Parts: sequence; structure tokens; C-alpha cells
Amino acid sequence: MRKIAILGSTGSIGTQTLEIVREQKDLKVAALAAGRNVELMEAQIREFHPQIAALWEEKDALDLKEKIKDLPVKIVSGMEGLLEIAALPESEVLVTAIVGMLGIRPTIAAIEAGKAIALANKETLVTAGHIIMPLAKERRVPILPVDSEHSAIFQSLQGERENQIKKILLTASGGPFRGRKKEELSQVQVEDALKHPNWSMGRKITIDSATMVNKGLEVMEAKWLFDVELEQIQVVVHPQSVIHSMVEYEDGAVIAQLGTPDMRLPIQYALYYPERRKLSGKRLDFYQLSNLTFEEPDPETFTGLKLAFEAMRKGGNIPTVYNAANEKAVALFLDRKITFLEIPEMIEMCMEQCRFVKSPSVEEILQTETEVYELIESRW
Ligand code: NDP
Repeated sequence: MRKIAILGSTGSIGTQTLEIVREQKDLKVAALAAGRNVELMEAQIREFHPQIAALWEEKDALDLKEKIKDLPVKIVSGMEGLLEIAALPESEVLVTAIVGMLGIRPTIAAIEAGKAIALANKETLVTAGHIIMPLAKERRVPILPVDSEHSAIFQSLQGERENQIKKILLTASGGPFRGRKKEELSQVQVEDALKHPNWSMGRKITIDSATMVNKGLEVMEAKWLFDVELEQIQVVVHPQSVIHSMVEYEDGAVIAQLGTPDMRLPIQYALYYPERRKLSGKRLDFYQLSNLTFEEPDPETFTGLKLAFEAMRKGGNIPTVYNAANEKAVALFLDRKITFLEIPEMIEMCMEQCRFVKSPSVEEILQTETEVYELIESRW
């Protein structure tokens, strides 16, 4: 039995992880944590029987406790609760599927407790990669990517450890606005931006795909995960999302991982690595794949991508500024308070105006987040 804990069990990645648990009989859920969804958490506890579960707010946790008083489950809340779950002695793997920088502390706690990390929460690496990766190396804890592109790169690296990576080819669907020019994006509405052509994901990450900020965050994530120079990462727009990313080697060979868009594959691969398990679902039909195309991204329209390279080049707390400004801007856009094009504008403004910290501690990362939020709130 492989025991797992999931942070963000009620979200898109969390529920798909639980679908895998339903299919694979040798996985056991030891712990679940979520934000505010009391009903779904109750249903998940009744189905998967974790020994401990967490909701963020104490009052929601009390409500949940009352609902499941017939079951022997410990209910916790707040950051304390997340930390307890992350380091739970009974679990072997922590799936980090919460959103935002909230994931940093629990990820560190899990690494310190020797857990393997199935990492979906890319913000953790974007903002604290300089803390997380050396710590994982020191504790000999694997960081297994869940993001489909990073899983594809990871799969393309198998058996090649001694060979130098020449280039990482990070594929991008281009989102719903691929091919449009900046002027054409001034009027787009929330509903337009939420229509992702290939993947079904949470709302925030779907907007991030439309702005290509998601790809920017993935560039930063790839740099930390695979320890390459920024110049070795090339974003390739591939609208069909069949190739999930590739690695080019010194001899010119390019190794890729292909598949139908289904997040359960990278989640399952991370849970069972290096083993491959059976997974139900659609398969690629190569007789139907007559038209795989590739394009260069348009940095003048999708400035969010260009800013990500700039943030990573500057380093220090600037990737945190980029990420925090984007989180706030996306929330404002989803509330219809700002336009689509104001999202990258807000990121750029914050990158120019925030205080630079060269090698930020976790506290300084979180402080930077607060500073960015305050800066945006003072302007909008
Ligand atoms: P969702 O918004 O669908 O889910 C977020 C989860 O986090 C929910 O379970 C939510 O709980 C929980 N959560 C929110 N706030 C808190 C809190 N304060 N304490 C504990 N739990 C909290 O996000 P996704 O699943 O889409 O994304 C999760 C992460 O994975 C992100 O970092 C994203 O970038 C990354 N990712 C996602 C992909 C996807 O296909 N969706 C692909 C690759 C990476 P509740 O709903 O109960 O409030």
C-alpha cells in the first residue's frame, strides 16, 4: 500500500488524483486538505477514509467535524493543519495541489520529513526554488513533476541522466487567443478567456494560459526542476497539445512524450515513478494525427511570457513579484474589475516598483507577496 496525502484535494488536480486512487487499489489516502469546500471534503472523507483532514478556516473545520462525527477522523485547520498533514509520519508522498505561495511551507515541512513530493503547485518552485531544490537534494527527496509539460520533460530524461541537455522544448497550446494581435485583445471578456482549447483546468490557471503567464511560470519551474540555464529553455507553440514537451540532446536527438490531454497520466506517473500503470481513457490515434503544427510565441502580444524570462533573469524576489502580481491581477480580472490586457501591465508595474531582495527567505518571499498586494490595492 502506498500512502499519500493531498493538499488541495477538492480542486482540479486534487479530484483527479482521487480518481486515480479509485482505479488503483494499492493507493491509500492518509490525509486530505482543502480550502473552503466543506461538502466535497465531507464526501471525500466518507469515500477515502483519511486519518486526518484539514480545511483552512477554523469555523469550516468545526462545521466539518460536526458533519463527520460518526467517523474517527482528526480535523485540523490553518497553516498548522497543513504542516501537520505535510509531515504526517504515515504518508510517503505529498501531492501539492493547492494554489499559490501557501504551498511553500508545507512543501518544506514534507521534504524535511523525508516525503516524496508530487508537485503540481508550481508557485512553490517559482518563488522558492532556491530553497526547495537544494533542500530536496540534501535530504535525497524526489520532486516529481505533475505539470504535464514537466512530466513530459522528466519522462524524456529517463535513462539519459549522464547525457547533457542541450535544450528543453516547452510546448504551449497558445491558449484561446493564439494568433490574435494585442489590439484585438482589448475587449475580451472573462468567458472568452476561460475557454481553453484543449485542457480542462481550474479558473485561475485557465486565465494564466490565455495570457501565457502560465507558460512563463512553467519556464521558471523547468529551470529549477531540471537545473538548466534560462537560455536552454525554448517555448514552442503547438496548438494540438499532442506533444507535451521535448528534450534536445547534444547529438541533435529530440526525445518527446506524446499523449491525449489527460492530467491523470502525469499525476499517476508521479505517484508510481518509475513504474507505469494501466490508465483508462482515450489513446492517441496516429491515423488521425495528420496535422501537428509548431509556431514561435508572439512576445509583443503575450507580454506575460516575455516578463517571465525577465523576472527569472533578475532573480531574487522578482519571480515572487511576478507571481503575486499575476495572482492579484487575475482575481481582479475574474471579478471584472480590470481588462485582460491590464493583467501583464500590472505585473510589469510591480516588477519595476517592488523592492529587490537578492536571496529571499520564506518570510521575505511572503513579505514580498504582501507588498505586491498592497501596491496593487493602492492603485486599483
Ligand atoms: P483549483 O483552484 O482547482 O484547486 C485549488 C485547491 O486548493 C482546492 O482544493 C482548494 O480548496 C485548495 N485551497 C485553496 N485555498 C486553500 C487553503 N487556504 N488551504 C488549503 N487548501 C486550499 O486549482 P488546480 O487544481 O487547477 O491547481 C492546483 C495547482 O496545480 C496550481 O498551482 C496549478 O498551477 C497547478 N497545476 C494545475 C493544473 C491543472 O490542470 N489544473 C496543471 C498543472 C499544474 P477549496 O476548493 O476547498 O477552497
